[in-house]
Amino acid sequence: IREITVDAASSDHAEMIVQAVKAVPDIKVIDVYDRTFNLHRGGKISITSRIPLKSVSDLAMAYTPGVGRICTAIAENPEEVYNLTIKRNTVAIVTDGTAVLGLGNLGPAAALPVMEGKAMLFKEFAGIDAFPICLDTQDTDKIIEAVKNIAPVFGGVNLEDIAAPRCFEIEARLRQELDIPVFHDDQHGTAIVTLAALYNALKLVQKSMGDIRIVINGAGAAGVAVARLLRKAGAEKIWMCDSKGILSTSRTDLTEEKREFAVKAQGTLAGALQGADVFIGLSAPGVLTPEMVRSMTKDPIVFAMANPIPEIQPELIKDDVAVMATGRSDYPNQINNVLAFPGVFRGALDCRAATITTTMYLEAASAIASLIKPSDLDKQHIVPSVFDERVVSAVAGAVQRAARQEGIARG
Ligand code: NAP
Ligand code: MG
Repeated sequence: IREITVDAASSDHAEMIVQAVKAVPDIKVIDVYDRTFNLHRGGKISITSRIPLKSVSDLAMAYTPGVGRICTAIAENPEEVYNLTIKRNTVAIVTDGTAVLGLGNLGPAAALPVMEGKAMLFKEFAGIDAFPICLDTQDTDKIIEAVKNIAPVFGGVNLEDIAAPRCFEIEARLRQELDIPVFHDDQHGTAIVTLAALYNALKLVQKSMGDIRIVINGAGAAGVAVARLLRKAGAEKIWMCDSKGILSTSRTDLTEEKREFAVKAQGTLAGALQGADVFIGLSAPGVLTPEMVRSMTKDPIVFAMANPIPEIQPELIKDDVAVMATGRSDYPNQINNVLAFPGVFRGALDCRAATITTTMYLEAASAIASLIKPSDLDKQHIVPSVFDERVVSAVAGAVQRAARQEGIARG
């Protein structure tokens, strides 16, 4: 009898191997090793020093008494905090754990692995030191207070996985009260990358933003932000749906954000899609049917972005659409926020932008779209790969240019 250890990256994978091995005589599974769990043990990030600490004199400079003079210099000239501390390159990733991935309200501790992962992305893609801050409160005022109180350490704040509609107020108030960039990635990262993808999809079908009718399914953090940015980019006909159907002026249950997009039409998603040019799904798995797609106009564009299971499986409509995108890495055209947020913060931190603006989002989206040369553009390739090294500098450059044009760059 041979004894083996099963080494798998997911529980499904492990189970498959264990079942397959059962049929083989002489082999006994003695252990199942889950690579994904194992790589999380002890956490995924750590803090390291940037300077040596080997001698008494190193110590006297890095810590007391030397550091005292640095403190005094900052007290006398607060701007020096940007030169003499980590602030300039450090971002707080703040969550209350109310909308963790697509998993829901898991609370702050369960949100930590996601925030650690996000910190890794900041570092790997943009060289930014980002730190997870998981707050043990779901109260809007307390979250705002907490972020304001920790702001001295940070050059920017990335709000993450905070549920709608509270996320809108929290971001708006923090923007007003802080003098550093505040960016809710689930809103604006998604909006930037979706707009970039749409710019290129429209080139393929030779339609223009002002003419098309767009149906956005899902009016949460992502859906509302995408709708707002598409409007700024020139989209004139946007119909939105939530779990109860079209956001119609006849409805009395709409939040302030949903009312911004209320239209005269009423009914269901199926009705909204008849004759539409574009479907953007930021809602729930499997809610779009092939019949609905076939009722759209010629050359429909479908972005089914619910994660991890899209609104429709791409295989079901591959002959019916002109362009198809999802949020997943195992299909072509992955609309992934990592194309946007590292470059947005890199650009904003580098020019010490006082805030983040819609012009920056628009410029960032154009920059991402432009990385696909006309000769490389096709229905399977409307956005760059997340590992395309040009992305961060293109987005950062666009954000900086916008900041300088708008007069909000401070360095
Ligand atoms: P959210 O704030 O919870 O909003 C979800 C929205 O979807 C709500 O408006 C909800 O309606 C609506 N909804 C739920 N079930 C629906 C249904 N059956 N039909 C129509 N609408 C339905 O979530 P979010 O942060 O915006 O994210 C939404 C989805 O998009 C998630 O699956 C997320 O993973 C995905 N997403 C993907 C990307 C990406 O691929 N780059 C980026 C961001 C988000 P009610 O308002 O009526 O409850
Ligand atoms: Mg998120």
